[in-house]
Amino acid sequence: MICLKVRYDERNTMFSRVRLKPNTEHYKTYYNDKPDLKAVDDALRLKAIRDGLRASDAFKARFFPLTNQNNAVLKSLHDTVDATPLGKRVNVGRAFATNIKATAKHYGAADVGIVKLKADHYYQAHGGVSEAIGKNNYGAPIVPRYTHAIVYAIPMALSYINRSPHYESMLETENAYLKIAFTGARLALYLKQLGYKSVFQSEAYYETPMVPLAYDAGLGQIGMANHIVHPHFGNRIRLGAVLTTMSLEEDQPIDFNLEAFCKRCALCLMNCPSHSIKPGKRMRNGRPFYRFIDHTCYAMWLRSGTDCGTCIQSCPFTQGINLKKVKDAKDNTQALDQLLEEHIQKHSRRPFVKEPLDIVKLGGDKDGN
Ligand code: SF4
Ligand code: SF4
Repeated sequence: MICLKVRYDERNTMFSRVRLKPNTEHYKTYYNDKPDLKAVDDALRLKAIRDGLRASDAFKARFFPLTNQNNAVLKSLHDTVDATPLGKRVNVGRAFATNIKATAKHYGAADVGIVKLKADHYYQAHGGVSEAIGKNNYGAPIVPRYTHAIVYAIPMALSYINRSPHYESMLETENAYLKIAFTGARLALYLKQLGYKSVFQSEAYYETPMVPLAYDAGLGQIGMANHIVHPHFGNRIRLGAVLTTMSLEEDQPIDFNLEAFCKRCALCLMNCPSHSIKPGKRMRNGRPFYRFIDHTCYAMWLRSGTDCGTCIQSCPFTQGINLKKVKDAKDNTQALDQLLEEHIQKHSRRPFVKEPLDIVKLGGDKDGN
């Protein structure tokens, strides 16, 4: 079977599309090419996600500043790495992958894999998300400059994720993105000092989409919600990567029987409030993805005022499940159903916790409510 590999284009992502400003050249060019997306996207643009949060003024005054300066921190990290000159080359062998993985963990990663980069790992062009850190590169072609990617996972705390879609989930997502940037910036600085060109990806700068990269790096399999499902952390991870010219031993995709489990489970699909998750599997560049409606998911984010996260919370792997039993079940539907039943008995179909965490509790002072 011939598998034609197509480079993804960051301009087609929801985050890039909603940033397009009406009547600009970029806007006109994009929707001349994709007129069917215009009405859908126009209804979603120019709104900040958290504007939709149903919370009091007292809540917003106290807790919105928790993340207000995140882009400034991200920008300073990117600027520091960009401004750091390459050191004198220290020659290392491909087995130095072991040291690099340990370094990434030392800097904060929970799990790490390495991918040899091919042209189709890279986006075709930037989509404008880097405006947040002062890079106006919309439409700039991405030239593959690196040979390897060090891909890593940062877990999000279960106590926050189990409050999804409340504000705690948004806080934890933003927290994880900053941890990704700290880890990536430090790793890129280290590699540059060893004489290897390197750049880190963050929520404000991507040269590659993350899910295909993490799949190839063996960090997990792709679940029904199109997230990487990590064998131990489930969906409650965010992904980072450092692209580098250091040649390192590569990892391979893993298989812990997720595909068979998803077929019996579908909890993310059933709990999704916007019905954005669809069961149909389809191969994309040789990797298994599922049908997904991005604009209805994003519309839900605008309605909830957070990044929702109900699908992340719903996944049995997020809550913890006996991995050995999942693997051993293979295609034994009875065994898989039994495992799922045990999970539901323990955690329910949606382990949502209403009680707010201390970090966003109001009422402790005279202005609270
Ligand atoms: S984030 Fe929410 S709306 Fe979007 S797919 Fe997940 S559950 Fe559905
Ligand atoms: S919730 Fe169930 S169907 Fe969805 S990704 Fe997790 S295991 Fe798969």
